[in-house]
Amino acid sequence: MAAQDHGPSGEPEGDEDARLSAAVDAESFEAAEDAQRHPDPSGPNRIAVIFAHPDDAEFICAGAVARWVAEGHHVTYVLLTSGDKGSEDPAVTPEALVATRTAEQRDACAVLGVQEVQFLGYADAMLVPDLAMRKELVRVIRTLRPDVVVCQDPTVRFVGQNYLNHPDHRAAGEATLDAVYPAARDRMTFPELLAEGLEPHKVREVYLAGANAPDVAIDITAYMETKLAALRCHKSQMGEWDPEPEIRKWAREDAERFPDHGEYAETFKYFKLD
Ligand SMILES: [Zn+2]
Repeated sequence: MAAQDHGPSGEPEGDEDARLSAAVDAESFEAAEDAQRHPDPSGPNRIAVIFAHPDDAEFICAGAVARWVAEGHHVTYVLLTSGDKGSEDPAVTPEALVATRTAEQRDACAVLGVQEVQFLGYADAMLVPDLAMRKELVRVIRTLRPDVVVCQDPTVRFVGQNYLNHPDHRAAGEATLDAVYPAARDRMTFPELLAEGLEPHKVREVYLAGANAPDVAIDITAYMETKLAALRCHKSQMGEWDPEPEIRKWAREDAERFPDHGEYAETFKYFKLD
């Protein structure tokens, strides 16, 4: 969606209590340190980044994506919509916008080194996390068989006093989490998928991007330029707006909330599913 649809990835500015509670939680610390070694160092992981719109992931997790790719992991983007409502230009048709935005997303993925991009073709601004969407995402997960899923935080309804989260972002997060657990894992859920040969699959780790209560931070200092370059591929959404100052500010604030990080970080709510 348009750039102004994206808010900061953390709590509202000045919410010191929230920052403190995130910083002193021992379990969170452990998870944070763990996440610095993740995805699993035992070998290349398959990572599925499942988001609502083209450009969503570039705003809130492209630094981590670039880092994971550089570390040898295999990343697939799965976008529920192609962002066909993301223009105020009366001369632009939804069909033309789909072509523009899918091309922009592929360009951004090329910058990041993302190996694969899928567009599921849902209508922009119309996402509803129903059973049909859950089944479609179970199909995706059982096909890709990712070790790690990155998605949007469905609990983010608003941030501060100037940002109402887009309903598609919440819907995409809700449907993805419901697909990860328990539907993709359970043999008897959606038996028609099993009949197609799509065996159950257990996702090992989940990262919620742009989360309400982040408990891990990924150091993206070395990947900030790559993130900015990927974001700038979304020319139809940037217009005259230069995202760089805002992006650097958010990433600097995220880094400050977690110890032992470089200048820039992206934060996540992290789950290790047993
Ligand atoms: Zn969006």
